[in-house]
Amino acid sequence: MTAMLIDGKQIAADLRRAMAAAVVGLKSAHGLVPGLAVVLVGEHAPSQIYVRNKQKAAKEVGLNSFEYNLSAEMPQDELLKLIAELNANAAVHGILVQLPLPPQIDAMAVLDAIDPAKDVDGFHVINAGRLTVGQPAMIPCTPKGCLYLLKDHLKLPLAGMRTLVIGRSNIVGKPMAALLLAEGCTVTIAHSKTRDLPTECARADIIVAAIGRPEFVRGEWIKKGAVVIDVGINRVEDPADPRGYRVAGDVEFTSAAARAAAITPVPGGVGPMTIACLISNTIKAACLITNVPRS
Ligand code: NDP
Repeated sequence: MTAMLIDGKQIAADLRRAMAAAVVGLKSAHGLVPGLAVVLVGEHAPSQIYVRNKQKAAKEVGLNSFEYNLSAEMPQDELLKLIAELNANAAVHGILVQLPLPPQIDAMAVLDAIDPAKDVDGFHVINAGRLTVGQPAMIPCTPKGCLYLLKDHLKLPLAGMRTLVIGRSNIVGKPMAALLLAEGCTVTIAHSKTRDLPTECARADIIVAAIGRPEFVRGEWIKKGAVVIDVGINRVEDPADPRGYRVAGDVEFTSAAARAAAITPVPGGVGPMTIACLISNTIKAACLITNVPRS
Protein backbone atom coordinates (compact mmCIF):
# COMPACT_ATOMS: atom_id res chain seq x y z
CA MET A 1 0.00 0.00 0.00
CA THR A 2 1.38 3.42 -0.92
CA ALA A 3 -1.64 5.58 -0.12
CA MET A 4 -1.93 7.51 3.09
CA LEU A 5 -4.80 6.09 5.10
CA ILE A 6 -7.40 8.73 6.02
CA ASP A 7 -8.31 7.67 9.54
CA GLY A 8 -11.91 8.88 9.78
CA LYS A 9 -12.35 7.15 13.11
CA GLN A 10 -9.57 9.18 14.72
CA ILE A 11 -10.49 12.44 12.98
CA ALA A 12 -14.13 12.04 14.06
CA ALA A 13 -13.07 11.25 17.64
CA ASP A 14 -11.03 14.50 17.73
CA LEU A 15 -14.02 16.43 16.40
CA ARG A 16 -16.35 14.88 18.98
CA ARG A 17 -13.94 15.83 21.77
CA ALA A 18 -13.88 19.45 20.59
CA MET A 19 -17.67 19.47 20.32
CA ALA A 20 -18.07 18.03 23.83
CA ALA A 21 -16.07 21.01 25.14
CA ALA A 22 -18.26 23.39 23.13
CA VAL A 23 -21.41 21.80 24.58
CA VAL A 24 -20.08 22.32 28.12
CA GLY A 25 -19.51 25.98 27.20
CA LEU A 26 -23.02 26.41 25.77
CA LYS A 27 -24.54 24.98 28.92
CA SER A 28 -22.54 27.10 31.35
CA ALA A 29 -22.74 30.35 29.36
CA HIS A 30 -26.29 30.11 28.02
CA GLY A 31 -28.03 27.20 29.77
CA LEU A 32 -28.37 25.60 26.34
CA VAL A 33 -28.22 21.81 25.91
CA PRO A 34 -28.68 20.85 22.25
CA GLY A 35 -31.30 18.10 21.85
CA LEU A 36 -31.42 15.48 19.09
CA ALA A 37 -34.51 13.35 18.38
CA VAL A 38 -33.78 10.14 16.49
CA VAL A 39 -36.76 8.32 14.99
CA LEU A 40 -36.47 4.70 13.85
CA VAL A 41 -39.45 2.99 12.22
CA GLY A 42 -39.25 -0.80 12.02
CA GLU A 43 -36.42 -3.23 12.60
CA HIS A 44 -34.11 -2.88 9.59
CA ALA A 45 -30.90 -4.35 11.08
CA PRO A 46 -28.31 -1.90 9.63
CA SER A 47 -30.59 1.05 10.55
CA GLN A 48 -30.75 -0.19 14.15
CA ILE A 49 -26.94 -0.15 14.29
CA TYR A 50 -26.70 3.34 12.70
CA VAL A 51 -29.30 4.73 15.11
CA ARG A 52 -27.60 3.19 18.12
CA ASN A 53 -24.26 4.69 17.09
CA LYS A 54 -25.81 8.12 16.54
CA GLN A 55 -27.55 8.10 19.92
CA LYS A 56 -24.38 6.91 21.68
CA ALA A 57 -22.28 9.66 20.08
CA ALA A 58 -24.91 12.31 20.91
CA LYS A 59 -24.93 11.31 24.58
CA GLU A 60 -21.13 11.14 24.79
CA VAL A 61 -20.84 14.68 23.46
CA GLY A 62 -23.36 15.83 26.08
CA LEU A 63 -26.44 16.33 23.93
CA ASN A 64 -29.94 15.45 25.11
CA SER A 65 -31.00 12.39 23.10
CA PHE A 66 -34.69 11.67 22.48
CA GLU A 67 -35.28 8.21 21.10
CA TYR A 68 -38.33 6.89 19.24
CA ASN A 69 -38.30 3.23 18.21
CA LEU A 70 -41.58 2.75 16.37
CA SER A 71 -43.33 -0.30 14.98
CA ALA A 72 -42.84 -1.19 11.31
CA GLU A 73 -46.65 -0.91 10.94
CA MET A 74 -46.70 2.73 12.09
CA PRO A 75 -49.19 4.60 9.87
CA GLN A 76 -47.88 7.68 8.07
CA ASP A 77 -50.31 10.11 9.74
CA GLU A 78 -49.13 9.04 13.20
CA LEU A 79 -45.52 9.55 12.21
CA LEU A 80 -46.40 13.01 10.84
CA LYS A 81 -48.11 13.77 14.16
CA LEU A 82 -44.92 12.85 16.03
CA ILE A 83 -42.86 15.07 13.71
CA ALA A 84 -45.26 17.99 14.40
CA GLU A 85 -44.80 17.44 18.16
CA LEU A 86 -41.01 17.36 17.80
CA ASN A 87 -41.11 20.52 15.64
CA ALA A 88 -42.98 22.24 18.50
CA ASN A 89 -40.78 20.87 21.31
CA ALA A 90 -38.31 23.57 22.43
CA ALA A 91 -35.92 20.98 23.92
CA VAL A 92 -35.50 19.33 20.51
CA HIS A 93 -33.18 21.19 18.11
CA GLY A 94 -32.50 18.39 15.65
CA ILE A 95 -34.82 15.76 14.18
CA LEU A 96 -33.50 12.73 12.33
CA VAL A 97 -35.78 10.13 10.75
CA GLN A 98 -33.67 7.11 9.84
CA LEU A 99 -34.10 5.93 6.24
CA PRO A 100 -35.30 3.68 4.68
CA LEU A 101 -38.90 3.88 5.89
CA PRO A 102 -41.42 1.03 5.50
CA PRO A 103 -43.44 0.97 2.26
CA GLN A 104 -46.66 2.44 3.72
CA ILE A 105 -44.79 5.69 4.44
CA ASP A 106 -43.85 8.30 1.84
CA ALA A 107 -40.32 9.30 2.89
CA MET A 108 -40.46 12.65 1.06
CA ALA A 109 -43.67 13.62 2.88
CA VAL A 110 -42.03 12.84 6.21
CA LEU A 111 -38.77 14.66 5.43
CA ASP A 112 -40.70 17.70 4.20
CA ALA A 113 -42.72 17.76 7.45
CA ILE A 114 -39.55 18.38 9.49
CA ASP A 115 -38.98 22.05 10.38
CA PRO A 116 -36.05 23.04 8.08
CA ALA A 117 -34.36 24.68 11.10
CA LYS A 118 -34.32 21.28 12.86
CA ASP A 119 -33.46 19.29 9.72
CA VAL A 120 -30.04 18.11 10.92
CA ASP A 121 -29.84 15.56 8.10
CA GLY A 122 -30.18 18.38 5.56
CA PHE A 123 -32.67 16.39 3.46
CA HIS A 124 -35.53 18.94 3.47
CA VAL A 125 -36.12 20.46 0.05
CA ILE A 126 -35.54 23.95 1.54
CA ASN A 127 -32.05 22.98 2.72
CA ALA A 128 -31.29 21.15 -0.53
CA GLY A 129 -32.34 24.29 -2.45
CA ARG A 130 -30.30 26.60 -0.23
CA LEU A 131 -27.22 24.44 -0.71
CA THR A 132 -27.72 24.47 -4.48
CA VAL A 133 -28.00 28.26 -4.72
CA GLY A 134 -25.20 28.89 -2.22
CA GLN A 135 -27.25 30.14 0.75
CA PRO A 136 -26.51 29.06 4.36
CA ALA A 137 -28.09 25.63 4.81
CA MET A 138 -28.09 22.49 6.88
CA ILE A 139 -25.63 20.33 4.93
CA PRO A 140 -26.26 16.57 4.71
CA CYS A 141 -23.91 14.83 7.15
CA THR A 142 -22.11 12.37 4.85
CA PRO A 143 -21.05 14.89 2.18
CA LYS A 144 -20.20 17.39 4.91
CA GLY A 145 -17.90 14.78 6.49
CA CYS A 146 -16.30 13.97 3.13
CA LEU A 147 -15.63 17.65 2.46
CA TYR A 148 -14.07 17.98 5.90
CA LEU A 149 -11.65 15.16 5.07
CA LEU A 150 -10.66 16.74 1.76
CA LYS A 151 -10.56 20.40 2.78
CA ASP A 152 -9.81 20.59 6.50
CA HIS A 153 -7.90 17.36 7.07
CA LEU A 154 -5.95 16.84 3.83
CA LYS A 155 -5.96 20.60 3.11
CA LEU A 156 -6.27 20.00 -0.62
CA PRO A 157 -6.31 23.09 -2.84
CA LEU A 158 -9.75 22.14 -4.16
CA ALA A 159 -10.28 25.00 -6.61
CA GLY A 160 -9.80 23.67 -10.12
CA MET A 161 -9.31 20.04 -9.11
CA ARG A 162 -11.05 17.44 -11.28
CA THR A 163 -13.49 15.62 -9.06
CA LEU A 164 -15.63 12.60 -9.87
CA VAL A 165 -18.66 11.90 -7.68
CA ILE A 166 -20.04 8.44 -8.42
CA GLY A 167 -23.72 8.31 -7.41
CA ARG A 168 -26.44 10.94 -7.67
CA SER A 169 -28.64 10.26 -4.65
CA ASN A 170 -30.24 13.18 -2.81
CA ILE A 171 -28.48 12.22 0.40
CA VAL A 172 -24.90 11.75 -0.83
CA GLY A 173 -24.07 12.24 -4.52
CA LYS A 174 -25.98 15.44 -5.34
CA PRO A 175 -25.10 17.41 -2.18
CA MET A 176 -21.48 16.18 -2.44
CA ALA A 177 -21.29 17.54 -6.00
CA ALA A 178 -22.85 20.85 -4.88
CA LEU A 179 -20.30 21.24 -2.07
CA LEU A 180 -17.35 20.49 -4.34
CA LEU A 181 -18.69 22.84 -6.99
CA ALA A 182 -18.93 25.58 -4.36
CA GLU A 183 -15.24 24.96 -3.58
CA GLY A 184 -14.37 25.56 -7.23
CA CYS A 185 -13.78 21.95 -8.25
CA THR A 186 -14.50 20.82 -11.79
CA VAL A 187 -17.17 18.28 -10.93
CA THR A 188 -18.35 15.26 -12.91
CA ILE A 189 -21.26 13.20 -11.59
CA ALA A 190 -21.36 9.57 -12.70
CA HIS A 191 -24.34 7.21 -12.26
CA SER A 192 -25.76 4.00 -13.62
CA LYS A 193 -26.17 5.45 -17.12
CA THR A 194 -22.57 6.71 -17.35
CA ARG A 195 -21.00 5.15 -20.44
CA ASP A 196 -17.34 4.75 -19.55
CA LEU A 197 -16.72 4.89 -15.82
CA PRO A 198 -13.07 3.71 -16.00
CA THR A 199 -12.18 6.66 -18.27
CA GLU A 200 -14.01 9.09 -15.97
CA CYS A 201 -12.08 7.66 -13.01
CA ALA A 202 -8.74 7.90 -14.82
CA ARG A 203 -9.27 11.67 -15.25
CA ALA A 204 -10.14 12.43 -11.64
CA ASP A 205 -7.86 14.00 -9.04
CA ILE A 206 -10.49 13.15 -6.42
CA ILE A 207 -13.03 10.32 -6.50
CA VAL A 208 -15.98 10.16 -4.11
CA ALA A 209 -17.69 6.79 -4.54
CA ALA A 210 -21.29 6.49 -3.27
CA ILE A 211 -22.77 3.65 -5.26
CA GLY A 212 -23.80 0.88 -2.87
CA ARG A 213 -22.01 -1.91 -4.76
CA PRO A 214 -19.16 -3.71 -3.01
CA GLU A 215 -15.72 -3.06 -4.49
CA PHE A 216 -17.24 -1.84 -7.75
CA VAL A 217 -14.55 0.75 -8.49
CA ARG A 218 -11.42 -1.13 -9.53
CA GLY A 219 -7.99 -0.03 -8.36
CA GLU A 220 -6.62 -0.01 -11.90
CA TRP A 221 -9.17 2.70 -12.91
CA ILE A 222 -7.71 5.17 -10.46
CA LYS A 223 -5.23 7.80 -11.53
CA LYS A 224 -1.90 7.51 -9.74
CA GLY A 225 -1.80 10.03 -6.91
CA ALA A 226 -5.57 10.58 -6.77
CA VAL A 227 -7.49 10.92 -3.51
CA VAL A 228 -10.23 8.35 -2.95
CA ILE A 229 -13.15 8.83 -0.57
CA ASP A 230 -15.18 5.63 -0.27
CA VAL A 231 -18.69 6.28 1.06
CA GLY A 232 -20.03 2.78 0.41
CA ILE A 233 -21.13 0.51 3.23
CA ASN A 234 -21.94 -2.94 1.87
CA ARG A 235 -22.43 -6.26 3.60
CA VAL A 236 -20.61 -9.06 1.81
CA GLU A 237 -21.19 -12.69 2.78
CA ASP A 238 -18.11 -14.07 4.52
CA PRO A 239 -18.27 -17.46 6.24
CA ALA A 240 -14.86 -16.76 7.84
CA ASP A 241 -16.33 -13.82 9.77
CA PRO A 242 -18.21 -14.76 12.97
CA ARG A 243 -21.07 -12.45 11.86
CA GLY A 244 -21.31 -14.31 8.54
CA TYR A 245 -20.53 -11.12 6.63
CA ARG A 246 -17.89 -8.44 6.33
CA VAL A 247 -18.34 -4.77 5.53
CA ALA A 248 -16.88 -3.57 2.23
CA GLY A 249 -16.76 -0.20 0.53
CA ASP A 250 -17.59 0.69 -3.07
CA VAL A 251 -13.88 0.70 -4.00
CA GLU A 252 -11.52 -2.26 -4.31
CA PHE A 253 -9.38 -1.18 -1.37
CA THR A 254 -6.02 -2.94 -1.77
CA SER A 255 -5.52 -2.24 -5.47
CA ALA A 256 -6.81 1.33 -5.10
CA ALA A 257 -4.47 1.99 -2.17
CA ALA A 258 -1.55 0.90 -4.37
CA ARG A 259 -2.26 3.80 -6.78
CA ALA A 260 -3.93 6.52 -4.71
CA ALA A 261 -2.16 9.22 -2.69
CA ALA A 262 -4.74 8.95 0.09
CA ILE A 263 -7.78 6.75 0.70
CA THR A 264 -10.48 6.19 3.31
CA PRO A 265 -10.90 2.68 4.71
CA VAL A 266 -14.29 0.96 5.12
CA PRO A 267 -15.17 0.69 7.93
CA GLY A 268 -13.46 3.53 9.80
CA GLY A 269 -13.45 6.21 7.09
CA VAL A 270 -16.55 8.17 6.13
CA GLY A 271 -18.98 6.43 8.53
CA PRO A 272 -17.64 8.01 11.77
CA MET A 273 -17.43 11.40 10.00
CA THR A 274 -21.13 11.21 9.17
CA ILE A 275 -21.96 10.81 12.85
CA ALA A 276 -19.61 13.62 13.91
CA CYS A 277 -21.28 15.92 11.36
CA LEU A 278 -24.73 14.99 12.69
CA ILE A 279 -23.61 16.17 16.14
CA SER A 280 -22.12 19.30 14.61
CA ASN A 281 -25.37 20.05 12.74
CA THR A 282 -27.39 19.58 15.94
CA ILE A 283 -25.20 22.05 17.84
CA LYS A 284 -25.45 24.48 14.92
CA ALA A 285 -29.25 24.11 14.83
CA ALA A 286 -29.53 24.65 18.59
CA CYS A 287 -27.47 27.86 18.39
CA LEU A 288 -29.38 29.23 15.39
CA ILE A 289 -32.80 28.42 16.87
CA THR A 290 -31.98 30.00 20.25
CA ASN A 291 -29.94 32.85 18.79
CA VAL A 292 -26.83 31.89 20.74
CA PRO A 293 -23.40 32.46 19.15
CA ARG A 294 -21.52 29.25 18.37
CA SER A 295 -18.30 28.81 20.33
P1 NDP B 1 -28.44 5.11 -3.69
O1 NDP B 1 -28.81 3.69 -3.98
O2 NDP B 1 -29.52 6.07 -3.36
O3 NDP B 1 -27.64 5.69 -4.94
C1 NDP B 1 -26.65 4.94 -5.57
C2 NDP B 1 -26.14 5.69 -6.76
O4 NDP B 1 -25.18 4.86 -7.40
C3 NDP B 1 -27.22 6.02 -7.78
O5 NDP B 1 -27.13 7.36 -8.18
C4 NDP B 1 -26.93 5.06 -8.93
O6 NDP B 1 -27.21 5.59 -10.22
C5 NDP B 1 -25.43 4.89 -8.80
N1 NDP B 1 -25.02 3.66 -9.44
C6 NDP B 1 -25.59 2.43 -9.33
N2 NDP B 1 -24.98 1.55 -10.14
C7 NDP B 1 -24.01 2.24 -10.76
C8 NDP B 1 -23.05 1.88 -11.74
N3 NDP B 1 -22.98 0.65 -12.25
N4 NDP B 1 -22.18 2.84 -12.17
C9 NDP B 1 -22.25 4.10 -11.69
N5 NDP B 1 -23.16 4.48 -10.77
C10 NDP B 1 -24.03 3.57 -10.32
O7 NDP B 1 -27.35 5.04 -2.54
P2 NDP B 1 -26.87 6.14 -1.46
O8 NDP B 1 -26.36 7.34 -2.14
O9 NDP B 1 -27.89 6.27 -0.42
O10 NDP B 1 -25.65 5.34 -0.80
C11 NDP B 1 -24.54 4.92 -1.55
C12 NDP B 1 -23.64 4.06 -0.68
O11 NDP B 1 -23.18 4.84 0.41
C13 NDP B 1 -24.31 2.85 -0.03
O12 NDP B 1 -23.36 1.81 0.09
C14 NDP B 1 -24.69 3.34 1.35
O13 NDP B 1 -24.79 2.30 2.28
C15 NDP B 1 -23.52 4.22 1.64
N6 NDP B 1 -23.78 5.29 2.61
C16 NDP B 1 -22.83 5.47 3.56
C17 NDP B 1 -22.96 6.46 4.49
C18 NDP B 1 -21.87 6.66 5.47
O14 NDP B 1 -22.05 7.31 6.48
N7 NDP B 1 -20.67 6.15 5.19
C19 NDP B 1 -24.14 7.31 4.53
C20 NDP B 1 -25.06 7.11 3.42
C21 NDP B 1 -24.87 6.11 2.52
P3 NDP B 1 -28.72 5.92 -10.73
O15 NDP B 1 -29.11 7.17 -10.02
O16 NDP B 1 -28.57 6.07 -12.17
O17 NDP B 1 -29.55 4.74 -10.32
